[in-house]
Amino acid sequence: MEHFELCIVGAGVVGLALAERFAHTRPRTFSILLVDSNASFGRETSSRNSEVIHAGIYYTPGSLKAQLCTEGRHLLYQYCQAHGIAHRRIGKFIVAQEHELESLERAFHTAMQNGVENLQWVSQQALSEMEPLVHASHALYSPGTGILDSHGLMSTLLAEAERAGVQYAPLTRVVAVQAQDGGFIVQTECGVPGHLENFEFRCRYLINAAGLHAQELAKRIEGLDKSNVPALFLSRGCYFSLAGKAPFRHLIYPVPDQNQRGLGIHATLDLAGQVRFGPDVEYVEEIDYRVPEERREIFVEAIRRYYPGLRADQLHPDYSGIRPKLSAPNGGVADFLIQDETTHGLPGLVQLFGIESPGLTASLAIARLVADKGMLQE
Ligand SMILES: Cc1cc2nc3c(=O)[nH]c(=O)nc-3n(C[C@H](O)[C@H](O)[C@H](O)COP(=O)(O)OP(=O)(O)OC[C@H]3O[C@@H](n4cnc5c(N)ncnc54)[C@H](O)[C@@H]3O)c2cc1C
Repeated sequence: MEHFELCIVGAGVVGLALAERFAHTRPRTFSILLVDSNASFGRETSSRNSEVIHAGIYYTPGSLKAQLCTEGRHLLYQYCQAHGIAHRRIGKFIVAQEHELESLERAFHTAMQNGVENLQWVSQQALSEMEPLVHASHALYSPGTGILDSHGLMSTLLAEAERAGVQYAPLTRVVAVQAQDGGFIVQTECGVPGHLENFEFRCRYLINAAGLHAQELAKRIEGLDKSNVPALFLSRGCYFSLAGKAPFRHLIYPVPDQNQRGLGIHATLDLAGQVRFGPDVEYVEEIDYRVPEERREIFVEAIRRYYPGLRADQLHPDYSGIRPKLSAPNGGVADFLIQDETTHGLPGLVQLFGIESPGLTASLAIARLVADKGMLQE
């Protein structure tokens, strides 16, 4: 049976970052296999997001989200710079109406605790000079927030990982795992429906970076105490694009809702200058990426609070992504959950659960945490 030192399940941005980091910090003899069930990398949550490099403003101080977002942002800007990946430190305004001032002050206070640099209060006058079409009584400006080409990031991570010896196997779904003799026997189905083949291999270490399917995969690991597998809640976020010329030059965010289920329906700009609004928050029973036309009204109402000039017919249903949440609706905020042997008792296994936003920003820092801080207990 073929043997690998490490198998990483999931070639989303996190699995790719892990593959790249392990490959660059281990000798060539440490063989690494990266598998993904889709035909290509990054087809799920990693290509269905806002592509924003977050500053780390909102996350609970001391949480993994806060730490890994701040560290990940620095690493990401450096990595994009070094590898010629398109990105822009475009800056973002968080805007509040008079009755929302307290929420904005809370966000500022949290950001200070998280060590966010250069966050500035902006007067109504200054805001109207920089963003004349935005209506708000108070605003914060975050110059460190940016946007990036997430596909470019992922294809670079894969190329770098492969160059350093990683074997990448698309169309390879892990269907069962048995923990055995200090390692794992991994069963996969390879190919497309109608032409599926089974392939089995052995590995010493296993990382579950399967995103929305991480819980499902964990439940298929024979020998793992399932009481450690957290519940999964699917939270869809839809986007509507704006027809015509961009009315803003920066990212525009409202204050987040009180229980932080999402950051509020905001305006993002992509690198081509196209504006889209989103994502909203809707808990769903299954993975379903449709963007219901009925959501338009909710979008129009939310956007007009800070952009009164919006015409409803300018919005067009675009795409959606699904957050792998660990908290139920109104269940508060859950942190990223990264488990190793010290949590679940199974040597050689690392599992990542609930890698929702800011997972893209944090991806390189997550990889460092797992690869450089002894989580695999090699
Ligand atoms: C609406 C929305 C907006 C967001 N906006 C931002 C943002 O602006 N900035 C930011 O920093 N973050 C953002 N995020 C979060 C970010 O997109 C995610 O945290 C990140 O993409 C997660 O990457 P991942 O690799 O963990 O998961 P995924 O991208 O889901 O990758 C998991 C991979 O595992 C594979 N897989 C699953 N099961 C198996 C199996 N059994 N066998 C083999 N392969 C398998 C899948 O095919 C998939 O490719 C947003 C998320 C959402 C939903």
